[in-house]
Amino acid sequence: METAEIRRRWLSFFESKGHLVVPSASLILNDPNLLFVNAGMVPFKPYFLGQETPPGPRATSVQKCVRTQDIEEVGKTSRHGTFFQMNGNFSFGDYFKEGAIAYAWELCTSSVESGGFGLDGEKLWATVYQDDDEAIDLWLGLTGIPAERIVRRGKADNYWHMGVPGPGGPCSEIYYDRGPAYGPEGGPAVDEDRFMEFWNLVFMQYELSAVRSKEDFDVAAELPNKNIDTGMGLERIASILQGVDNMYEIDEVKPVLVRAAEMTGKRYGVHSGHSAGESHPDDVRLRVVADHVRSALMLIGDGVTPGNEGRGYVLRRMLRRAVRSMRLLGYNEPCLPELLPISMDKMKASYPELESGFGRISQIAYAEEEAFRRTLAAGTTILDVAVEKTKSAGGEVLSGDQAFALHDTYGFPIDLTLEMAAEQGLQVDRDGFTRLMSEQRQRAKADAKAKKSGHGDTTAYRSVADALGHEVEFTGYQDVTGEATVAGLLIDGVSAASATSGQEVEIVLDRTPFYAEGGGQLADGGLLRLANGALVEVDDVQKPITGLIVHRGRVVDGEVGTGEQAFAEVDIARRRSISRAHTATHMVHKAIREALGDTATQAGSENSPGRFRFDFNASSAVPASVLRDVEARVNQVLLDDLAVRADVMTQAQARESGAMALFGEKYGDAVRVISVGDWARELCGGTHAERTSQLGLVTLLGESSIGSGVRRVEALVGTDAYSFLARERAIVGQLTELMKGRPEELPERVHGLMGKLKDAERELDKLRKESLAAAGAGLTASARDVGGVTFLGHDAGSDAAADDVRTMALDLRGRLGNDRPAVVAVTGSGGGRPVIVVATNEAARGAGHKAGALVRVAAGVLGGGGGGKDDIAQGGGQDPSRTGDALAAVEASLGSAATRSAR
Ligand code: ATP
Ligand code: MG
Repeated sequence: METAEIRRRWLSFFESKGHLVVPSASLILNDPNLLFVNAGMVPFKPYFLGQETPPGPRATSVQKCVRTQDIEEVGKTSRHGTFFQMNGNFSFGDYFKEGAIAYAWELCTSSVESGGFGLDGEKLWATVYQDDDEAIDLWLGLTGIPAERIVRRGKADNYWHMGVPGPGGPCSEIYYDRGPAYGPEGGPAVDEDRFMEFWNLVFMQYELSAVRSKEDFDVAAELPNKNIDTGMGLERIASILQGVDNMYEIDEVKPVLVRAAEMTGKRYGVHSGHSAGESHPDDVRLRVVADHVRSALMLIGDGVTPGNEGRGYVLRRMLRRAVRSMRLLGYNEPCLPELLPISMDKMKASYPELESGFGRISQIAYAEEEAFRRTLAAGTTILDVAVEKTKSAGGEVLSGDQAFALHDTYGFPIDLTLEMAAEQGLQVDRDGFTRLMSEQRQRAKADAKAKKSGHGDTTAYRSVADALGHEVEFTGYQDVTGEATVAGLLIDGVSAASATSGQEVEIVLDRTPFYAEGGGQLADGGLLRLANGALVEVDDVQKPITGLIVHRGRVVDGEVGTGEQAFAEVDIARRRSISRAHTATHMVHKAIREALGDTATQAGSENSPGRFRFDFNASSAVPASVLRDVEARVNQVLLDDLAVRADVMTQAQARESGAMALFGEKYGDAVRVISVGDWARELCGGTHAERTSQLGLVTLLGESSIGSGVRRVEALVGTDAYSFLARERAIVGQLTELMKGRPEELPERVHGLMGKLKDAERELDKLRKESLAAAGAGLTASARDVGGVTFLGHDAGSDAAADDVRTMALDLRGRLGNDRPAVVAVTGSGGGRPVIVVATNEAARGAGHKAGALVRVAAGVLGGGGGGKDDIAQGGGQDPSRTGDALAAVEASLGSAATRSAR
């Protein structure tokens, strides 16, 4: 059953059971604690937490997920992808365990004809939380699973919560027994590869009051309204229903794998067993390629671009691992242009926006591959120097420092360093490298934990917030400096009493003018000057939990401790520049709505110094002329010098005033409304310019699609806009000088030039062909008699491509006539690849000389193969320096045939 069909069946099954079908959310949801959506329930979190009212009591979805923590498993297990899709059914205080188990059993085991998955109930196992007797009774009563195939497991495996106080409860997982070829008997506890988990039913039964770790939490009470959250891995069920060994061999993934195998000349699967444990390293690499290419496609499709941190880094890592794996498999050319379109072609049925946005997506991916290729090239030079140094000092081992520097500075992967050092007869101090890496990873982990972890361990922040006893007061709407007290301090995510010079810290003040990243506005930067003389540079500000603002940065001087007085100074230039961008975003939003209508609502934005991007809903591309109007309108309003005002009011008043927002979604009762004169009014917690004239100038850089029905404009503001236009003008200036025309004539002139160029190329090609033909006339004179056959051998040189060689061979044969046996052999090596064409006339064929046989002999000399018919045949090879030898081989073979027949 095709993956697309499984997905259809899933949705229609649950739709028929009264579930609202909800489309997949983007992989990047606006959740500061989450790098990517990693489960089907993520978009429904506000309903489970009781923060918002669900649109109905039941819902179902097929959600795009990325789990970066599974990256090392890819290809080595049969069931972990970095990208995968999770089928989910959800109940918000509606049906509970009984409903969830009964639906699961029905869908799994009902026949294919009746719309089910047709799984053999005998092969299904269930795990339950050790104390959940209720679930055991339901499995026994509602399904055909006997007690021997129901396994009790502890909290580590079968208890779910969000890592924070809130709903939690036992879960129950469904496993499929794939049979003895995949591993030993004994059920899920013995072998998770043979017994493969494909569906997890989470029973949100309790309210947890404190969560200290995965297995350490307090249950406060039964929830009055119990919820269901389930997740079935679409790729896993597909691998079961398609009868393949692993998720990389299902219909949506395998074509990329197959193409990668072709490109690298590997024979996938022949050296591996069925179980993932018996995989040949090359097969693992091919699976990694297929998985990562798809994940990269999906990530870029949802608007991620390669970068050095956060989401961008995950994408970069996947693309690089894919390219690297291809290299390790022996393929050194750009590979994404071959592989990415295949993946898109397989995924577009479910995600049509991948096809319409493929221009943008592929451009980003291919550019990243090119950049990585350059990195590799640069790193290679550095490596060569390091190797040289080590050797000339008489050493045999490249130091861990050098390997680490290559990795850290040039992004040069260690396995490549190892391999290339080995080629030069050197070893690498791997232990030294590993130590440096793990130190770095420790730092990164602490950072990631503090910043954007899975469900986020927010315990440390909570205790700081508790100790403070009130929300941190944000004073930054009015002030950019201010006195405050250090209320808490964290190092590597752990509370500390003090931090000294050189340490990375997170500092909480009781009040602060620093704006924390949020609402699409980037964080402020700046300084904290402590009363004791210490100095902290702030480079990031976040709100890890509601009410808490955390300054992240480095102590550059002295020592900082809790309870001390601090003077906070926001970097004013940065703040102003971001604020201008934010105001400009509101104005562009308004102008776009004027132009496209009210359906063009905001879907996201990012305001950074001097530039912003604004995402909005629109079903098709926005024509360039409309964008020009929007830009003109915004710049017109700038000149009106409207005042930008902030007012706090009730939601009702805000609605009354015509403010743009998705009401009832996520704002409390009192809201802040930003008005640009009377023109644009919108709910917003960000900072803004005071008057529109402060923006100076706004330029739109263009518009693109970032997902189904969502468009993105990017723009520059103020001096950044000016610099951009100034540079464009300089370019036009250079061009007009080159083309000796006025700027407005440029397009026509360039067009004309391109036409001329094409004509010239055509002419050149014609001349080349003519000169080859003309040469033919003189060549017949050099024909020789070889054992009664007229033989004409000629090397047409490195200009002649296969086509030319063929034309010439036919031409020469024609010139030699048919009076006596004649054989013509012509070689050429256009583009560095040698070809040979042999042609025989009728008389020669009558005498037993066959072009196909002659060409095979010659192609062998060139290091390749070939063949064809008796009258004309073609071959090729690797070594262009041996074309003369190839001709000689044809001649020799004619000679020996003559000797043979003479005997
Ligand atoms: P495993 O232990 O096999 O890694 P899990 O316990 O992490 O699975 P859940 O978090 O319960 O999985 O996710 C629900 C379902 O999503 C799983 O039953 C599985 O079918 C699927 N799933 C989870 N992780 C992946 C992945 N990396 N690739 C493909 N499918 C996955
Ligand atoms: Mg897992």
